[in-house]
Amino acid sequence: MDLYSPVTVLPGIGPSRAKQLANLGIETLYDLVADFPRTYEDRTKFVSINQMELGVPACFEAWVIRGPQTAHIRKGLDLTKLTVADNTGRLNLVFFNQPYVADQLRYGETYIFYGTVEGDYTRFQMVNPVHEQPDQPPVLTRRIMPVYNLTAGINNKLLSKCIGQAMDACVQELPELLPLAVRQQYQLCDCRMAYQTIHNPLSFEALENAKKRLIFEEFFLFSAGLELMRSRRKQDTVAPYEDLDLQFFHDALPFHLTGAQEKAICEIAADFGKGTPMNRLLQGDVGSGKTMVAAAAAYLCVKNGRQVAFMAPTEILAEQHCQSLSKLFAAFGMDCALLTGSTSAPEKRHIKAGLLDGSISFVIGTHALLTEDVQFQDLSLVIADEQHRFGVAQRAALSQKGKSPHLLVMSATPIPRTLALIVYGDLDVSILDELPPGRQTVDTFLVGESMRARINAFIRKHAEAGNQVYVVCPAVEESELDSLKSAEVWAETLQRVVFPDLRVGLLHGKLKAAEKERVMGQFSNHELDVLVATTVIEVGVDVPNATLMVIENADRFGLSQLHQLRGRVGRGPDKSFCVLFTNNKNQDTIGRLKAFCKTNDGFKIAEADLAIRGPGDFFGSRQHGLPQFKAASLTLDLEVLKEAREAAETALADPNYVNDPTFPAMQDRIRNLFREDSNIFN
Ligand code: ADP
Ligand code: MG
Repeated sequence: MDLYSPVTVLPGIGPSRAKQLANLGIETLYDLVADFPRTYEDRTKFVSINQMELGVPACFEAWVIRGPQTAHIRKGLDLTKLTVADNTGRLNLVFFNQPYVADQLRYGETYIFYGTVEGDYTRFQMVNPVHEQPDQPPVLTRRIMPVYNLTAGINNKLLSKCIGQAMDACVQELPELLPLAVRQQYQLCDCRMAYQTIHNPLSFEALENAKKRLIFEEFFLFSAGLELMRSRRKQDTVAPYEDLDLQFFHDALPFHLTGAQEKAICEIAADFGKGTPMNRLLQGDVGSGKTMVAAAAAYLCVKNGRQVAFMAPTEILAEQHCQSLSKLFAAFGMDCALLTGSTSAPEKRHIKAGLLDGSISFVIGTHALLTEDVQFQDLSLVIADEQHRFGVAQRAALSQKGKSPHLLVMSATPIPRTLALIVYGDLDVSILDELPPGRQTVDTFLVGESMRARINAFIRKHAEAGNQVYVVCPAVEESELDSLKSAEVWAETLQRVVFPDLRVGLLHGKLKAAEKERVMGQFSNHELDVLVATTVIEVGVDVPNATLMVIENADRFGLSQLHQLRGRVGRGPDKSFCVLFTNNKNQDTIGRLKAFCKTNDGFKIAEADLAIRGPGDFFGSRQHGLPQFKAASLTLDLEVLKEAREAAETALADPNYVNDPTFPAMQDRIRNLFREDSNIFN
């Protein structure tokens, strides 16, 4: 039986069980053994009956002094009762709908139980405890019990059993992935030991060792993969750009670039002159002017007769980039084309033909750029905006449309340095740590419902002064489940009841692309005073005349997301404000939002957000850019990450590594890890 046999090779697992397991992402024997417990229950410590505490699970030995007796209470409810005792006291046990317990537990016999005492001081009882005979091997009691993530139809006992079967079937097949020298240097146990212990720890100390080993392994492989990817890209050669003169570009801009922009552009131009493909992350807080840096890069590319593709995560953003850059590029006699999902078919055909024959040099678009039939004559630069929304895979898919094109990825979510290492481990970094001059900080206030009338008056004041206002709601539609403000209903209320004389628009993700575009266009052209929206406006939207951002149910958003939203205002010359509404009374939540009001520093906010929510939530539900780690936690295990990274770099630098017995398995696993990415080994 090999590691990648389907789970159905195990006795007792048929197609329907396999389907349930697939809901947990488990398809092969390896998936089973690599399904690490979510947590553990300590069932090792025995307590006597008189020492038990209400609500605290306990393991104890006792004999049956009364019962068991089963009573049929009503249809669908059987109750089995018995009383057990040890030298210190007695306890009533109750089992719901487990009549077979009456056969398993016999009067006068001794058993080991594990369960939780419930009730009040007049009446204790334990409901549905698990039990074993003292001479049975410890499975449910007397051990550190692994607790797995479950799904409908699969309980912990069943999953433990499947994993046990898989371990028996293939533990010998588990390949060692870490060279002996690495294991010795970092005191890591071998791989079989680690897997056996993680599913069945004999002590907490052994468990810690096993965990450390598996976390280390995961980070080692990931670091090695990134390192290989980087070194492969370094071997590629491209023709350097000859003309790196940006005088025209500077002259055409309506403003002076900031020092940080200048520096980033210089770094990019230097990369273009080198003859190896650029791999650069441009990181800068909202409003720091990343688009202009991208424009400079695109300008140099087109000027040198090559093609550039600029990928944005939403149609609104692609549209907006195209509008602003078209104007600028027209001054250089350069065109840019827009290709999104809603581009008309003839227009699409036209653009695709132009990209293929080279007559179009600059295309801006969404994921539509990734489709197979988009081909380039000489794609030399790929720019990805708001990169954290794209995975390594999508980045690579676009890159593969050219011969080792230069890559510039931009992120407005200021990713904490620790995480950046993981998400962008293979990139060089330019940072825009300076905002364009004249930007004021956005004053931010946290308010409750009692302030509603005053905030409405504040909205009116901004609108009447000729500025514009965003109102962001957490939901699109009204829901019966929660009392969140819905964009649809709130927009209607504001227009009809509160501001009948103002122009109120509605924008959310469920609208058709053309409709979104129309509304966004209206807002940009100041045909609307108030835009009620969901977080579709979170990313990149740039309307400098907007000076007030009102966020409903602010506690529903992550801090980084709030920061993104707040970044939509304060983009023009006028003083801007952000108002956070919340009904939440939770002290932590209030504290977090108050802290947010006091700082405009995206990096600080991101660090705080990461600490509060963990990296999964940090990137939102999409999580595209993040690798999925099984054992490791990106918040807790960063020390191990550092060691593993060092170890991987040292190993790869050693020319003898390829002869190590662990090398082929490591290579294999990395191929799997980066499966959707370019083949990093050739
Ligand atoms: P982000 O980094 O969030 O993508 P943008 O590129 O959208 O920021 O820039 C925000 C706004 O600042 C835009 O309106 C842009 O035209 C303007 N801007 C960019 N660079 C400068 C500059 N050096 N001086 C003044 N305004 C600038
Ligand atoms: Mg931007």
